[in-house]
Parts: sequence; structure tokens; C-alpha cells
Amino acid sequence: MKYDVVIIGAGPGGIFSAYELTKERPELKVAVFESGTSLEKRKCPIDGDKIKSCIKCKSCAIMNGFGGAGAFSDGKYNITNDFGGTLYKYIGRKQAIDLMNYVDEINITHGGECTKMYSTAGTSLKKVCMQNKLTLLEASVRHLGTDVNYVVLENIYNELKDKVDFFFQSPVQKVEKTEDGYKVYSGDQTAECINCIVSVGRSGSKWMETVCKNLDIPTKSNRVDIGVRVEIPAVIFSHITDELYESKVVYRTAKFEDNVRTFCMNPYGMVVNENTNGIITVNGHSFDDESKRTENTNFALLVAKHFSEPFKDSNGYGESIARLSNMLGGGVIVQRFGDLERGRRSTQKRIDEGTVRPTLAATPGDLSLVLPKRILDGIIEMIHALDRIAPGTANDDTLLYGVEVKFYNMEVDLDENLETKHKGLYVIGDGSGVTHSLSHASASGVYVARKIAESL
Ligand SMILES: Cc1cc2nc3c(=O)[nH]c(=O)nc-3n(C[C@H](O)[C@H](O)[C@H](O)COP(=O)(O)OP(=O)(O)OC[C@H]3O[C@@H](n4cnc5c(N)ncnc54)[C@H](O)[C@@H]3O)c2cc1C
Repeated sequence: MKYDVVIIGAGPGGIFSAYELTKERPELKVAVFESGTSLEKRKCPIDGDKIKSCIKCKSCAIMNGFGGAGAFSDGKYNITNDFGGTLYKYIGRKQAIDLMNYVDEINITHGGECTKMYSTAGTSLKKVCMQNKLTLLEASVRHLGTDVNYVVLENIYNELKDKVDFFFQSPVQKVEKTEDGYKVYSGDQTAECINCIVSVGRSGSKWMETVCKNLDIPTKSNRVDIGVRVEIPAVIFSHITDELYESKVVYRTAKFEDNVRTFCMNPYGMVVNENTNGIITVNGHSFDDESKRTENTNFALLVAKHFSEPFKDSNGYGESIARLSNMLGGGVIVQRFGDLERGRRSTQKRIDEGTVRPTLAATPGDLSLVLPKRILDGIIEMIHALDRIAPGTANDDTLLYGVEVKFYNMEVDLDENLETKHKGLYVIGDGSGVTHSLSHASASGVYVARKIAESL
């Protein structure tokens, strides 16, 4: 098999590369290798009835397959350089925002036209946050919702499937440099190409390390974000979420001067398990369809941990903490905020008696046995700070699920074209360490596709 471009990974990065390549240069031969299945075959076995929690499938239907980790996500496309990645450092702030807007246009012309764009511009919340030692980050956010996000992906796939060769359930084991390009190995299949775009996301991070090692591509890694997912009655945050949908709020703790931030806010949403390389952590999402809404809002509170030399394995550190919660709780642990402050574990009885009905079946336990004190103290301080702008956040019955870990891929050494030191080998999306979000990953895909379209 010979191609002009082989894309590895069919997450937002890979999909938008394929989309832009076929649009700009329809005559090019493009293939996509994806370790998971096609969109319609992606089905997590958790049904809440027979299977209540993660059974650690070999290929996780939530993380792998057409649509990548974003397929069943909340579909929040944040258009900002303030968070979600550092693409702007490579391609400039204006171009990064232009590309994110372009991605938004594609989403709305492929099924997302009925969805709303929220913005922090002109919001009075900014002042209220400042008055309470909180900082509101600026962004516009298109909320597709899990349901519309799926429709958009379906429409894009239908448009691409006759123009691109898709190979599903085809994990790539090896990328080899040849005289005039690359050879990609997947099981007993091989494909040769002039340009190769690697877009394997967070789930492909371990594999990405081996690619970099084999091809002698420098990398660095020093960050992991650790915290909990907070679940409260939606009404407590509704004055914020109705206006902004998602608000990224940062608090600098008085005790350690650490930054704690809100992340991935899901109004009327549900808390879910996330399986990264067999480790169960927590995440959340919500639907655009009002009939699928819950009575709760959830969001993460995260503390970034940066390490300096000689320690290099920041993800290993995050994994160990997540493993500890898996060891104690068999998966995710849930605790009432009141129990945490009183220094006692939560029990099923106390959770059942509480006013917040959990949307995820997690094991009642004690998060102070899992999270480092400094991180836990920061989270407790932040909950009290948020209570000042959304009274009720620090109620005893507020639920905390742990742990939530944001693993950052090691940063691959890339130039301003997102190209490695090997000509024609590009690394994009979350797998590059440059992006951590749907909009940035997608924008990086469009960017590289245009570079390749120009160069070929
Ligand atoms: C539950 C959940 C909710 C989220 N919600 C949001 C949100 O609302 N907003 C937001 O901005 N971000 C959200 N995110 C993060 C977002 O999904 C990611 O930032 C985004 O998907 C990254 O895109 P990507 O293309 O770089 O990687 P991915 O989406 O991870 O895609 C990579 C693909 O590569 C495949 N792959 C990996 N290794 C190989 C290999 N060796 N060979 C072949 N294929 C391989 C994987 O199977 C996967 O399909 C969420 C994530 C999760 C898990």
C-alpha cells in the first residue's frame, strides 16, 4: 500500500487532518490507521445494570475509535489561547484562534448549527471572581454536547469515507524511516507514505514514547494535573453555567500559593469513568438534549504538579496516585465534602442520606488516603472560595470523586510546522504534548494538513 499521507489515529487531530487534506488536495492518497473501531461500533459495556463499572476492555470504547477520546465527550470546543494547549507558541496566537474558528465552522456545517456559542466577553462574573480572589479565564466555547458531537462526527465520517482509506482495529506498532518517506506497520499490514501524521492522543502516549525513542526524537515531560471531580445540584451553579456554560476559574491558595483551577464543567451532566492504560480515573460529560439532562453539575478541580530534574516521570507519579485510589476503591472513590472535612470516610449510607444523588456508581471512601495533603488542602480551599461566588458549593453533601488525573503527553520536539527533525514526520494533537483539548487538537490537524498540501 502506497500513500501520499498516512495518518495514525482517528481522533479530532487525525480527522481534521484528513478533512483538510481531502479538501485542499483531493487527488492525494490518504490512509488513516486507527486502533479502535468505527464510530457506530464504539460501545462501552457499562450499562449501569449488569455491568456497573469499568471492566478494563483491551481497547477502551470511550478513548479509542473514530472520534478518539472526544467521541463521547461533552463536545466543548473552547476557542482560546488561555488554556487547552500551547499551539500558539508554534504557530502564533492569531493563526491558532483563526484555525479554531475554522474548526468551529466545520462543526456547525456538519450538524452543529443548532448549538450555542458562549463567551466570557462582557460578563459581570469576571468582577465577582476578582472580588473573591478568583480569576476567570477568557474564552468562547461552543457546546456541542455528547449527542450533537456524535452527529457531527458521523457526518464528517460519511463525507470522508469514500475519499480516505480507513483501517479500523489496526493499531500501528512501528513507524520506520525509508529512503523517501515512512513505512507504517500494523499487524500483518504495511503502508508506505511520503508524509506521516502521528495523532495518537493521550491513549497512545506510551506508544508515542517508543516511536520517539526509535527515531531518536527528543522529548521532555514534567507535568501532571491531579484533583477531584465535584458534583453538586445544578441549581447552585446555574447563574454561572446558564450564562457561560463552562467557566475556567483559577484560585491561588493562601497556604501554598498553588493554583487550583476548575476544568471541564458539565452543567446537568454526569460523572463517568475514564480508563487510561488500565487505570481508572474520573471524568464528566453532558448532553445538549434537555431530556437527557441530570439534576447535577460536575466539574474538576485540578492542581498542576511540575517536576524538575532528576525526576522525569510526571505521568508515572499521577498514575501511582490513581492506582492507589483503584487499590482502595476498586476504581473511583466518592466522598461527601462534609466527611472529608470531618476526617472520616464516606459510607454508602451517608451518601444515600445526602441531598446530592451521585450520577456515577463509585465506592464510598476517603480521598485523604489517596491525595497528597498539599493537593487536598488546595482543593478544600478552592471549594470554599467557589462557595463565595456560588453559595452551596461547600455544602456537606457536595460529592467529590477521585481521582481525576490529567496526564500530559511528553512534549515532542517539533518545529513551527509541527514537524519532527525527520522531514515529513509530523506529530499533532494531544499525543504531541502541544494540545490538550478538542479545539487545539483539531486546529493542529488542519494546520499540518495545509502545510503538507502546500509542500507536496
Ligand atoms: C470523557 C472525556 C471528555 C472530554 N471532554 C472534552 C471537552 O468537552 N472539551 C475538550 O476540549 N476536550 C475534552 N476532552 C479531551 C479531548 O477529547 C482530547 O483533548 C482530544 O480528543 C484530543 O484529540 P487527539 O486527536 O489528539 O487524540 P485522541 O482523541 O485521543 O485520538 C487519538 C486516537 O488515536 C488512536 N491511537 C492511539 N494509538 C494508536 C496506534 N498506535 N495506532 C493507531 N491508532 C492509535 C486512539 O485509538 C484514538 O482514537 C475529553 C476527554 C475525555 C476522555
